[in-house]
Amino acid sequence: MSEERVLSPDIQFIKELRAVGGETVKKCYQCATCGVVCPMAGDERPFPRKEMIMGQLGLKDQLIVDPDIWYCHNCNDCSKYCPRGARPGDVLGALRAKSIQEFAIPKFMGQIVTNPKMTIVALAIPLVIFLVLLGLTGHLRIPEGEIVYSKFFPIPYIEILFMSLVGLAGIAYIVSLKRFWDGITAANGKNYIKRFDDALLETILEFLPHRKFTKCETNADRKNAHFLVFYGFVGLFITTLWITFYYYVFKIHSPIALSDPMKWFANISALSLLVGILMVISNRAKDKGVNSKTSSFDMTFIVIVLLLAITGILTELIRLMGIAGLAYPMYLIHLTFVFYTIVYFPYSKLAHMGYRALAITYAKMTGRDIE
Ligand code: SF4
Ligand code: SF4
Repeated sequence: MSEERVLSPDIQFIKELRAVGGETVKKCYQCATCGVVCPMAGDERPFPRKEMIMGQLGLKDQLIVDPDIWYCHNCNDCSKYCPRGARPGDVLGALRAKSIQEFAIPKFMGQIVTNPKMTIVALAIPLVIFLVLLGLTGHLRIPEGEIVYSKFFPIPYIEILFMSLVGLAGIAYIVSLKRFWDGITAANGKNYIKRFDDALLETILEFLPHRKFTKCETNADRKNAHFLVFYGFVGLFITTLWITFYYYVFKIHSPIALSDPMKWFANISALSLLVGILMVISNRAKDKGVNSKTSSFDMTFIVIVLLLAITGILTELIRLMGIAGLAYPMYLIHLTFVFYTIVYFPYSKLAHMGYRALAITYAKMTGRDIE
């Protein structure tokens, strides 16, 4: 006799899911079209139809540890063909946002960063910290002479502040990912056919060229946009290490000449980020016959990254034009967006990298992977 299970719908979870972009979940009538068109669905996996019915029932405990939701990269092939306008692609995006929110610690940070109504508060926090720090140390004024940002905001202040907070955020992220991993393995079993390190390496090597993105048809150009944004961030991370190396090892201080290879690398990375995020916006705005809506969680991240890139480029251009009264405030605004991006990353859209990598690693370890 088969095992009987009592399912208890979590009404609150359904409400929360609908609030973060999954408002159409109830429209699904299980026709299975999405499972047929989804390039990530396997023969044994009724995906994303399974998640749609689980979402309707509010099965939060199963959904937030469902590794399959991380296979979806929001191509929206399914939403294009869904006869009910249930937008399964958007519902899966909302489920991923809920999963990040549930596992993030401290939880209140997840609620602040994932709630667009709190974005102003999240931005005000670093700005106030900067103003208080500069005020207390006597730096809250426009310095005389050549524009050199470290005269206004000394490098050691930035490093101590950012390194300590990014370190704390990193610890919180690792703990969140561990909770997520424990949740996945407890809910889905540990029938491993592959080692963790081998599966993780395979996942990373598959991700670097964005191999899975090439499977979708409706939004094939998403690959290029994501590629540019991802490598823009990687480039800016390398630039930060490069500058630190210059400062402490070679004692080369800012402003660094435009002809320096580090400057070239930094500017190309910033441009990659800007072009990539503009392509993301343009792709979402184009009418491809897809019934899809960008969630507030995604939109907040897109706007922050756009402002990060624009203020970074303006910070350099205004310095080159020599307008000190504009350059220093712009630098402060840019640092605010840098803070938002790197200190809040365990709670923002950026956090998805670790969750997705673990979910796909788990799928590879247990033979659930889809080629
Ligand atoms: S989400 Fe749409 S396509 Fe998928 S099963 Fe439901 S109604 Fe059908
Ligand atoms: S958005 Fe694309 S990858 Fe995600 S479920 Fe739909 S078809 Fe599959």
